[in-house]
Amino acid sequence: MNIAFLNGSYLPLEEAKISPLDRGFLFGDGIYEVVPSYAGKMVGFAPHIERMNSGLSAIGINLDWSQSDWQDLCTQLIEKNGSGNLGIYLHVSRGADSKRFHGFPENVTPTVFAFAFDIAPPPIADKALAKKYTVSTGRDLRWERCQIKSTALLGNVLHFQQGYDQGNDETLLFNADNQLTEASSCNAYIVKNGVVITPPLNNQLLPGITRQLLLDILRRDGSIPVEERIVTMDEVRNADEAWITSSSKEIGAVVEIDGEPVGNGEVGDIWLAAQTLYTAGKYNY
Ligand code: PMP
Repeated sequence: MNIAFLNGSYLPLEEAKISPLDRGFLFGDGIYEVVPSYAGKMVGFAPHIERMNSGLSAIGINLDWSQSDWQDLCTQLIEKNGSGNLGIYLHVSRGADSKRFHGFPENVTPTVFAFAFDIAPPPIADKALAKKYTVSTGRDLRWERCQIKSTALLGNVLHFQQGYDQGNDETLLFNADNQLTEASSCNAYIVKNGVVITPPLNNQLLPGITRQLLLDILRRDGSIPVEERIVTMDEVRNADEAWITSSSKEIGAVVEIDGEPVGNGEVGDIWLAAQTLYTAGKYNY
């Protein structure tokens, strides 16, 4: 049985009910996180909670929860749901109002919802075993506050579906200047001449925790140079390797973009080196 958390209680997921006037439901007015956990060990717990707090503060939701409150919640969900490969979903909406009105209501209590879902085992750093991702491309049509991990994901959902409808795993997104932003649910990277290159953090992309950990791990190791800079569509199409990262995938090797092979169309050597370092270092965060 899947045990969830809703507003202070643990209960079977199918018994968790919210008001239809919850602003998360009506407006997508909330913030969420997904923290990966393998065999009971979370990856990047503290940075995930830090990002959630900065999202809550960006949209003016006051929630009086400490890091250890979140830690207790995650620990309980892991205990109650078995310690396999889990994505721990944390969600805070502005709460249930008594009417439908755009302005922030006064005196509503934020809704806190959490549950755990199965995710794939983490990638093994082995080219022969690596999942090969294929992606589409598209113009990024989302809003200009993509740094906020909002529960209002329709823009991302439509972009994901664009790639999915073409039989692909993701959609790489480009702004009006044909610069890479990210993918619909992942950060994006290219590798050229041994250098890992990813767009800089700004309002056009989510500051991914996997991205944060990966860049830190690579820089500390020092054997693979990393650049955070604008990446053009031409560079993406001429890359030696392309990657996508997210909490539930770690580093995904993209072997095909719009039906064309990336580099030689195989999982690359730099992917192997980076995933090896990530596997070794990820629990330090
Ligand atoms: N960008 C977007 C739009 C996302 O939704 C996600 C998370 N699925 C990411 C990037 C990756 O973030 P993280 O590494 O924190 O999972």
